Amino acid sequence: MGWPIAHSLSPALHNYWIAELGLDAAYAPLAVAPENFRAALDAAPLLGFRGLNVTIPFKTAAHEACATRDAAAEAIGAVNTIIFDEAGAAHGSNTDGVGFMAALRAGAPGICVKGGPAAVFGAGGAARAIVWALIEAGAPEIRIVNRSANKAEALAARHPAANIRITSIENSSAAAEDARIIVNATSLGMAGAPDLNVDFSRAAPGAAAMDIVYRPLETGFLRAARACGLIAIDGLGMLIEQARPGFRAWFGAEPPAGEGAWALLLRLLKKAPR
Ligand code: NAP
Repeated sequence: MGWPIAHSLSPALHNYWIAELGLDAAYAPLAVAPENFRAALDAAPLLGFRGLNVTIPFKTAAHEACATRDAAAEAIGAVNTIIFDEAGAAHGSNTDGVGFMAALRAGAPGICVKGGPAAVFGAGGAARAIVWALIEAGAPEIRIVNRSANKAEALAARHPAANIRITSIENSSAAAEDARIIVNATSLGMAGAPDLNVDFSRAAPGAAAMDIVYRPLETGFLRAARACGLIAIDGLGMLIEQARPGFRAWFGAEPPAGEGAWALLLRLLKKAPR
């Protein structure tokens, strides 16, 4: 459920898994005008939906509307996955953080999150989930760089016990110094937007850079990271991994591993890059 929703790759991904497993199920894109969100959410279980993914602009409203929320959704302050119980009550979760961490570990299998600082560019919804995931994984220091300082401060304030440093965007090259993990969680680099420029030259040896933007898959951020010898990870892995927990919960089945989902999404991205 989103507004708009036509660009979403999630229906193709879930329906591919459903077909692979031969399940009697369907995952449908629901375009819901913002003023109808609550009515649509209440109607969904009556119409037979087992759950929902919610995306822009509903992640915060979904957090407020759910009867219960898991620890990730509470810490992040947003819900992207809803499971309806038999009485129709909505239970909210946020899978962006676990999706990020699974994609990071798959893309950089030797990475030690506890071994050094992580730098996160951005303080929006995705950055909130990524910072939470890094804290959960034991990152000893997290540097947040964001255009709007107040949003970076609000994000840091959600985690008073964590070692979070805010670096101004003007001084952003300092953020990557000695960092083990560097993440672009801004919308910079998306088709039509300028690139995010980061100085990777003083990152820790063996560091990984992940760009969660996936339209386009290959961004200037990733090219620059690769040129400095970093492991470069694109945004497709996170997109696939954040989808798995919802699929498991709704259909009671493990979504297939394998390269099929990657190949499908790559084909769709090539066909409609925007
Ligand atoms: P969001 O909440 O709107 O946050 C956008 C972020 O980008 C904010 O930090 C914003 O800074 C920054 N930004 C936007 N324009 C900028 C500019 N011109 N200069 C500097 N900073 C700028 O969006 P979101 O939901 O976090 O999503 C961010 C990106 O991640 C999108 O490209 C989205 O498609 C992608 N994403 C990917 C996945 C995945 O699974 N791969 C999952 C979620 C999101 P301010 O705070 O200063 O506005």
